[in-house]
Amino acid sequence: MTTRYLNGRIFTADPDPANAWAEAFVTDGETIVYVGSAQDAPDTDETVDLGGRLVLPGFTDAHTHLLMTGAALGQVPLTAATSLEQIQEALRSARAADPDASVLRGRGWLFDSVPGGAPTAAMIDAVVPDVPVYLDANDYHSCWVNAAALAELGITRDTPDPLGGRIVRDADGEPTGLLLETAATQYAWAHRDEITSDADRDADVERVIEAYLATGVTGVVDMAFDQFGLAAFERAQERRGGELPIRVAAHWLVTNTGDDEANLAQVARAAELAQQASSPWLRVVGIKLILDGVIDACTAAMRHPYADGTNAEPIWPVEQLHPVVVAADAAGLQIAQHAIGDRASDIALDALEHAVAVNGERARRHRIEHLEYAAPGTAERMARLGVTASMQPVHSDPAIFDNWAQMLGDERVDRAFAWPEYEAAGALLAFSTDAPTAPYESLANMYIASTRASALDRSVPATHPQYALPLASAIGHATRDAAASVGDGDWRGRIAPGFAADVIVLDADPFADGPSSLLETRIVETIVAGRSRYRAPAENR
Ligand SMILES: [Zn+2]
Repeated sequence: MTTRYLNGRIFTADPDPANAWAEAFVTDGETIVYVGSAQDAPDTDETVDLGGRLVLPGFTDAHTHLLMTGAALGQVPLTAATSLEQIQEALRSARAADPDASVLRGRGWLFDSVPGGAPTAAMIDAVVPDVPVYLDANDYHSCWVNAAALAELGITRDTPDPLGGRIVRDADGEPTGLLLETAATQYAWAHRDEITSDADRDADVERVIEAYLATGVTGVVDMAFDQFGLAAFERAQERRGGELPIRVAAHWLVTNTGDDEANLAQVARAAELAQQASSPWLRVVGIKLILDGVIDACTAAMRHPYADGTNAEPIWPVEQLHPVVVAADAAGLQIAQHAIGDRASDIALDALEHAVAVNGERARRHRIEHLEYAAPGTAERMARLGVTASMQPVHSDPAIFDNWAQMLGDERVDRAFAWPEYEAAGALLAFSTDAPTAPYESLANMYIASTRASALDRSVPATHPQYALPLASAIGHATRDAAASVGDGDWRGRIAPGFAADVIVLDADPFADGPSSLLETRIVETIVAGRSRYRAPAENR
């Protein structure tokens, strides 16, 4: 079946700006076979009139967490609440809407919205006392719970703080209901994972697929895949006769057990999974290593201390990191290293250089995740080593930037999220959202990338507007380069002959109307492999 799409404003994301625009394209089944003028377009079985609308290559979210995002989409959204009253009202109505639920989960609350930045169990108990309530903070580094949840988790005044976390307590030593870092993960999240069923995960998968297609995302890269994610997506694929409506690539999470043999066994498992890729829709392409934490909590590893004089040690000591990186590189796996601080990115690049020295020169495309603060020269070193910079415009949203800046508190703040440096150095720059730590919507991400203004709160002025990218560059990094970040740069992410027919149609043209229109722009249709996978409700068409 051949289809020609005529009368559009087609942004091709061709690396050569001279070929960035076309008015027509033709698909043959799953593949684009022609891009150019309407006049020269070949005859086809079917013709679609685009009505002058803007068409882009489908977005690839090059770093996301699919199951967590799907779960978050099923929880009470609290990011927009600006006061305790609004949070309580949202919880009260969610409880009333689902009186049979045995637990209530919310997500995305901001410390600024809670009196004194000090949430307590009593604040939740005032509206929902009868079932356990778990509320994940916007940055997913803390969890706010009520008394029923503390009881369910068995947390009392006698419970010790876990290593790397804190059970916040009041003056009398009683837990207040706020769990920080590993206190959240080892208690609240571990309990949640225990009681989550396959049916829950299947629902999460369906929610996240639907949400991504509706925001024009045709490919995703899960950046911490595990056995539960893999099994859930395999089931989703089976339900659809061996395919998915969105392209899923995944990096297998390898955690530092402190034991080389156990670490290498995880790499071997990833290599085995990469070999037996069940379909082009669902692939394990590499491993993920988390080298440090985040600047907001002073847990990112820095060359120089934070404003308060502290610093953080990397999560992977070099002597444990190197064997893992060498083994993964030798197995042909793509290595993605989470490095937010400049010391962590130094360690990541040292490890990759070491792998090249041990394994020899050959084609490889490794990547570093986040790079929120990287020292001068890092971009150039990455370009030299062919390492992709995987960055998240949504994490630079000015509405959440103040705390970040205060933690560093010096001239380093001026180099936050310095995307143009990677462009200038010639490194591959791939954009993503890291959902659910930030909103997953593609056009809001492009708004921040092309303005450095806030998509969360439009009253907040832009920060570092000098780092805003032209819209065409921003979209190129989120389509063409994001696909290339998992080695797909020669077959998807652009509207070009021979490429996958993964395209989206928009209801407005932010190139003509200016980037500020991105927050009002909607996706009209999402096409993956030549087939329509999402259409906006009729009123938007
Ligand atoms: Zn992530």
